[in-house]
Amino acid sequence: MKHFEGNIVTKLPQTGTSIFAVMSQLATEHNAVNLSQGFPDFPISDELIKLVDHFMNKGYNQYAPMPGVPELRKMLSQMFEKNHSAKYDPDKEITITAGATQAIYTAISAFISKGDEVVIFEPAYDSYAPSVTVNGGLVKYAQLQYPDYSINWDELPRMISSNTKMIIINSPHNPTGSVISEEDMKKLENLIRGRDIIVLSDEVYEHLIFDGKQHQSASRFPELASKSIVIGSFGKTFHTTGWKTGFVMAPENITAEFRKVHQFVVFAVNTPIQHAVAEYLKNPDNYISLGSFYQEKRDYFISAIKGSKFKPLPCNGTYFQLLDYSNISDEPEMEMATKLVKEHGIAAVPVSPFYRTQDNNCTLRFCFAKKESTLKEAAEILCRI
Ligand code: PMP
Ligand code: GLN
Repeated sequence: MKHFEGNIVTKLPQTGTSIFAVMSQLATEHNAVNLSQGFPDFPISDELIKLVDHFMNKGYNQYAPMPGVPELRKMLSQMFEKNHSAKYDPDKEITITAGATQAIYTAISAFISKGDEVVIFEPAYDSYAPSVTVNGGLVKYAQLQYPDYSINWDELPRMISSNTKMIIINSPHNPTGSVISEEDMKKLENLIRGRDIIVLSDEVYEHLIFDGKQHQSASRFPELASKSIVIGSFGKTFHTTGWKTGFVMAPENITAEFRKVHQFVVFAVNTPIQHAVAEYLKNPDNYISLGSFYQEKRDYFISAIKGSKFKPLPCNGTYFQLLDYSNISDEPEMEMATKLVKEHGIAAVPVSPFYRTQDNNCTLRFCFAKKESTLKEAAEILCRI
């Protein structure tokens, strides 16, 4: 096709293709063991597949209601009440989205206008900053403190100004696996008291938390919950990243604004999958053991690389393990990641693209949401390097 001859003014001059797509593509090209992009390589529940099939065959194939299938919103409301003692009205405070990515974009789009400031913690998931920029907002970067990636409470208050409209938090945290404590959440609650600031709490790894830790959902803290948009994803919870189904929980007035935009971004989300997930959520066993399931995978991966030169950093949640390679090389992370794929046949994600300044801590992210045979193969390669 002939190129457009007019002038294209990009809204995202700094943005290229996401690092997840880049590394997965490289892994495919070099037939490498792929621990880069975060997705499971094992089969999902047969029962869940049968439920989707059932609802499709029963004729649930037309548009769902704009806010989502009522049964699913009801199940989420019950789940949050049980897990966090939080009360969300399924009709007015819960919306089903096409994955967390759409939820994040829509929430930012609904509340951020030109000149508004949004505080983001680095290293940061890749969709936050571009979503702010496209909507004319300004990103203020706070730094999580290497190597435990905790919040710097001396720095954070300095990031806030009269223009701050939103703070984005993410726990359990991608890419580092750190988790926010109860004390952190209380400090955040105190920090924004009396200010017009909304907290966007990305909780897609809510059930993937280890070593007896409790997920500190923003919904657990009534004052904070009244200013928070809590975002979840069934992609993580049910190993179904390709289904792109997620949700947003927020007070009624925030939800009303969110839905104004949501209806024009996606209108409604895949109907039979919503019904199937609602049915599947009725049995808490389908998500309650997720933490121990992934903890076993983390522990297996760490023990399998014990003899290697890679050093694991603490991982309290998510399905990502950071490994420090400073015993092997001090080259930049992107170069090291590329070399691992091309010369050793293993793909990981460099952490540097999660920083605006491409910091180099000699750390790579490995996804352990994989079959034991995949993790074994990966570990054997890593032990040889
Ligand atoms: N937030 C974080 C922190 C993530 O890791 C991901 C995806 N891995 C998302 C949001 C997007 O989730 P979804 O696939 O449901 O859009
Ligand atoms: N969130 C996944 C990861 O961190 C990937 C999502 C994506 O490819 N956009 O690897």
